[in-house]
Amino acid sequence: MKLYNTATKQLEEVKPIQPPKVSVYSCGPTVYDYPHIGNWFTFIRYDVLVRALKASGFQPDWVMNITDVGHLTSDADEGEDKLEKGAKREGKSAWDIAKFYSDYFVQGLDRLNILRPSHLPKATDHIREQIDLIKTLEQKGYTYQISDGVYYDTSKFPDYGKMAHLDLAHLKEGARIAANPEKKNPVDFALWKFSPSGAKRDMEWDSPWGKGFPGWHLECSAMSIKYLGETLDIHAGGIDHIPVHHTNEIAQSEAATGKPFANIWVHMNHVTVDAEKIAKSTGNGITLEDIEAKGFSLEALRLLVLQSHYRTQAEFSWETLEAAQNRLKDLYAWADLRHQPNIDTMPSELDDLFGATRQSMQQDMANDLNAPAALISLGKLVSFMQQIPIPGVEGKYTDEILKFIDDLLGLKLDGRPDISDEQKQLLQERQKARLSEDWSKSDALRATLETQKLGIRDTSYGQQWYRL
Ligand SMILES: [Zn+2]
Repeated sequence: MKLYNTATKQLEEVKPIQPPKVSVYSCGPTVYDYPHIGNWFTFIRYDVLVRALKASGFQPDWVMNITDVGHLTSDADEGEDKLEKGAKREGKSAWDIAKFYSDYFVQGLDRLNILRPSHLPKATDHIREQIDLIKTLEQKGYTYQISDGVYYDTSKFPDYGKMAHLDLAHLKEGARIAANPEKKNPVDFALWKFSPSGAKRDMEWDSPWGKGFPGWHLECSAMSIKYLGETLDIHAGGIDHIPVHHTNEIAQSEAATGKPFANIWVHMNHVTVDAEKIAKSTGNGITLEDIEAKGFSLEALRLLVLQSHYRTQAEFSWETLEAAQNRLKDLYAWADLRHQPNIDTMPSELDDLFGATRQSMQQDMANDLNAPAALISLGKLVSFMQQIPIPGVEGKYTDEILKFIDDLLGLKLDGRPDISDEQKQLLQERQKARLSEDWSKSDALRATLETQKLGIRDTSYGQQWYRL
């Protein structure tokens, strides 16, 4: 399996340290509000990565963190803690906000059929590990203390900014009037921030340096080392994490362990709404509830995500979602062929086609997660079967191809229910009416079934139903 490694800008073979296990760490949500659609695109793309690894024979050990403290309103070290901000907004404690939105997030994973990571560690449950990591960095001479916290001295880490190709000289020029003049270098970042004097935070802990809370970047280094070891096979995240968050994760981890932090970096591109990057600030904070309220399914959202490559900007609009919903209906109609009553044998030609489709979909996904190409491979099979058409292909069809596609793409095509016995009865009556050329009865029965959201196609094999 090959992935586009954003650290080297190359397609690289996945070569795990302990095959077949592949360690995958992905940066998760900051739980201070409802995730918007851009966040969910990224989380679905993580799921696509993990499913593709499985299809290629690996055993992914996937960890996604939950940030419930320390992420300030700027990704650097300025502004308010997002959790404290959420607490003020809702008149609750930061702890209540963290609990509510992390529970909501985990439910969202299930609603979107995103596989459960092996661990979903929370920053607040790993304060000790984060303090230990700062101690290690302190012993190795990478830290210094100023009035508002303990900082990482980026000038001590020669490769700082390498992945992001940061122009440090230029950054230093531009940041002359930096918000924090006590920092030695403008790109230095907080490992531990002190609680403001005279004010009590909801979330604060004692540390060797004083009462406070960990810097946002620190949790990912501490928790990935704890759960997955010092070098990750794959680190995934949003593309916006490259210049600050991931750059700082690398600096912390590699300074502490002396080992490469991640062998492959996978970065998910942005989603645009009406050509604007989705962000709360632009008022485009569309939630899963907004999508359902407009009558769309969350499977349609997943299909929309799959239609774009993770490295390109995806475009979200209600029109693109509607198109995805229609495409999904076609896939459902195809999956429902397994319940059609008329034919119980599968032509060998189709058997071959199933095998070829499986192989090309698996290869598409193994080639840098090319989900749009995998959907085209699937589409060819679907349109072939719609043209024949071959109803009632039980057995292999049921057990293998649908399960394979669901494992790979998570579209829930397998396990769709059959129609009811009453509906089967109505179909039989209509069949009889047609044989006796009672067209008005046949039409009346079609109309009845349509009120039950069931359409009928008359084919050379007899009637075929599909869900409207
Ligand atoms: Zn992270």
